[in-house]
Amino acid sequence: MKVRFWGVRGSVPSLERNMWRYGGNTSCVEVIAPSGTRFVLDCGTGLRLLGNHLAAASNGGAEAHVLVTHYHWDHIQGIPYFQPLFSPLSCLWFYGFHSPALGTDTVRKVLEAQVTQPYFPVHLNSLPSRREFRDVDGGANFSIADTRIRTCWLNHPQGCLGFRLESPAGSVVYATDYEPGEVALDRALREFAAGADLLIADAQYSPEEFAKRRGWGHSTWSDAARLACDSRARNLVLFHHDPNSTDSIVDRYLRSACKEFPETWAAAEGMQFHIRPGCVHAHTGQRALAGSATLKPESE
Ligand SMILES: [Zn+2]
Ligand SMILES: [Zn+2]
Repeated sequence: MKVRFWGVRGSVPSLERNMWRYGGNTSCVEVIAPSGTRFVLDCGTGLRLLGNHLAAASNGGAEAHVLVTHYHWDHIQGIPYFQPLFSPLSCLWFYGFHSPALGTDTVRKVLEAQVTQPYFPVHLNSLPSRREFRDVDGGANFSIADTRIRTCWLNHPQGCLGFRLESPAGSVVYATDYEPGEVALDRALREFAAGADLLIADAQYSPEEFAKRRGWGHSTWSDAARLACDSRARNLVLFHHDPNSTDSIVDRYLRSACKEFPETWAAAEGMQFHIRPGCVHAHTGQRALAGSATLKPESE
């Protein structure tokens, strides 16, 4: 099972030079199962880079199962710029929640309303790729090829889904955009993340910053470390960096989190993990290594 980070930032892309090492594109993570099935977790601006990569490797076409946690901008903004959408060779399956109670239409209608005028010059339905849409609720449990996918509601304004991908090689839990404090949801998330080989968790704030951002739907590096400890995850990746967090601030969060949960990483664009039964190898890339003493050596 291979995991690659294409966008790691929360809220809005950041372009400042002092954020280049971790990267400024918003949420997008690629997971390739042992069967070769490709999953995409969220469609922030990192999706554009993934699309360019896929298009270059396959005459423009691609197959992917795209799991959308929720519809805030930083999780869908890359969709109109995803090259495989523009290829008749592509087949893309989109999964997302439909909740009238939370003010959300079907995943199909939400994305069709995004890729259309006046937000974008071309309507999604006029693009030549083949597309399928499936609404998924919290608690969904289904399989695609060799991978079982489960979902879990997370505490976030307008709702958000966590995804767990379980393959013969291991498990990945993606739990971003989540604020702790709702007892039932906190407990459910700990059970959902239990024993994950790789837990990718919201770590947008420091505890001090969080005190000013209560109700905004995010976690601190300390919450993420506690979640990893409580759920007995094997590795934690701090994710959804604040758009105002410089590289040195993320370094600091990483060092602090490592004291509470030693197997912690901070997500950086280009970072990769290779999960095999019983072991997880990290390829952190130069951007994440420079200036971050607590990062372990890469095994490339
Ligand atoms: Zn977000
Ligand atoms: Zn959000």
